[in-house]
Amino acid sequence: MEHSKKYEPHQSVRYLNAESVSASDKPLPMLYADRENCCGCTACAEGCPANAIQMLADSEGFPYPVIDAKKCVRCGKCLQLCQLKKDQREKGYLQDETPVPESAKKTQPACCAVKHKDFDTRMASRSGGIFTALSDLVLDDGGVVFGCVQTEKFLAKHIRAEEKADRDKMRGSKYIQSDISGIFPQVKADLEAGRTVLFSGTSCQVAGLKSYLQKPYDNLLTVDIVCHGVPSPLVWKEYLQWQTQKHNAICTAVDFRNKRDFGWKAHVETLTMKKPSGETITVNSEVFKKLFYGEYLSRPSCYKCPYKSVHHPSDITIADYWGIQRIAPEFNDDKGVSLVLINTDAGRGWFARAKDSIELLEEKLEDSLQPPLKAPFDAPKDRTQFWEMFYGEPFETLAKQYGGYGLVNAVKRKLGGWKRSLKKRLHL
Ligand SMILES: Cc1cc2nc3c(=O)[nH]c(=O)nc-3n(C[C@H](O)[C@H](O)[C@H](O)COP(=O)(O)OP(=O)(O)OC[C@H]3O[C@@H](n4cnc5c(N)ncnc54)[C@H](O)[C@@H]3O)c2cc1C
Ligand code: SF4
Ligand code: SF4
Ligand code: SF4
Repeated sequence: MEHSKKYEPHQSVRYLNAESVSASDKPLPMLYADRENCCGCTACAEGCPANAIQMLADSEGFPYPVIDAKKCVRCGKCLQLCQLKKDQREKGYLQDETPVPESAKKTQPACCAVKHKDFDTRMASRSGGIFTALSDLVLDDGGVVFGCVQTEKFLAKHIRAEEKADRDKMRGSKYIQSDISGIFPQVKADLEAGRTVLFSGTSCQVAGLKSYLQKPYDNLLTVDIVCHGVPSPLVWKEYLQWQTQKHNAICTAVDFRNKRDFGWKAHVETLTMKKPSGETITVNSEVFKKLFYGEYLSRPSCYKCPYKSVHHPSDITIADYWGIQRIAPEFNDDKGVSLVLINTDAGRGWFARAKDSIELLEEKLEDSLQPPLKAPFDAPKDRTQFWEMFYGEPFETLAKQYGGYGLVNAVKRKLGGWKRSLKKRLHL
């Protein structure tokens, strides 16, 4: 294990060289009162004129801004750049504020169900492939695309792509927080150079970018994903290490959600692994997924996410179209359908241009509301116990207790299945 054995909830360094501050100095800025009030978007760090902020991981593996007291000139710009807190304030998620009623906000987005016409593209994408349709337009115009890829160590990281081969690596959901360090200045440089830019990421990354840029750009298209929450990269690393030891094999490829073998709706993580003998094995597991949906792994800001509504900071919002099987069953083949929300005129323009490469149905927004479009998920009551176990026990104990792993859980599932089918037969 890389981390120490003791979990210290919500502990991380906020300042470096704090001892250099004297009583007469202007106070250092406080970027967040509580962990829930920082999503790690990097806007403050990238926008600091004195280069005084670094992003460092806390005890749960999430990056937070840390201010170097020796470099900070107390200009306050970092506080102004924090869009998350402004949006949390509107929602009443900062304790001292009254929420602004949803009805007082912008108009409702237009809503569509979308499938890319090219089957292979759809199979390589998480849902219906709308991201490829939009990013193809930008790349064909000589533009640049920013999005999240898997690293060699199977972590998530944003990159810049000018070629379709690099953009293709952005396809597929990586269910951990992506490392976005250094990306916002690259986006700005491209925009200032007159390049067309598509930036894709979570809603808070898009909001952070727009705040960092400080002015609108006609050559920028922003696309956010509907985001349940971002799981901890630290737990993911530990999970991979556990699988490595359990199977005595090295991981060579990861599919966070294997659509090809299990269908669009299912959520099975597939690891391809190589034994010392050279034999290749495939490991299908639902342990990480179960920890994720148990809400144990989300970044604290996700429990107070201000973007859990139909109002998003991007031009276009994309998601899995859950519910399509109910409202347009003929459109669903369990290979993936994208939900697309068009939030701005710029989004409408780009979406109209993508129409040649997609099949589409216009749908009613009220029929398309999955839970993350309504409200954030609550933190589980036993979240601290989970993290104490993560630090204090082998990963396998955690997997059994919270991740549905092991014989006892398998028997429980079997009994549950029998009980459900018996009830159905008896019409109970
Ligand atoms: C952490 C996470 C939570 C999600 N939660 C939901 C949910 O609650 N409901 C739902 O309907 N869909 C969720 N999704 C899936 C999301 O809706 C799909 O990315 C979307 O359907 C894209 O469809 P596509 O077919 O165009 O996909 P693709 O071509 O597969 O799109 C990939 C896009 O996802 C971005 N991306 C991938 N991983 C990350 C990451 N870790 N951080 C930031 N951006 C990333 C890429 O930059 C790219 O823009 C989630 C995805 C992630 C990564
Ligand atoms: S107050 Fe100014 S110099 Fe200090 S960390 Fe914030 S942005 Fe940087
Ligand atoms: S700007 Fe982003 S990284 Fe900085 S404090 Fe706010 S949410 Fe956190
Ligand atoms: S749930 Fe909200 S705060 Fe968390 S990563 Fe997604 S957009 Fe950001």
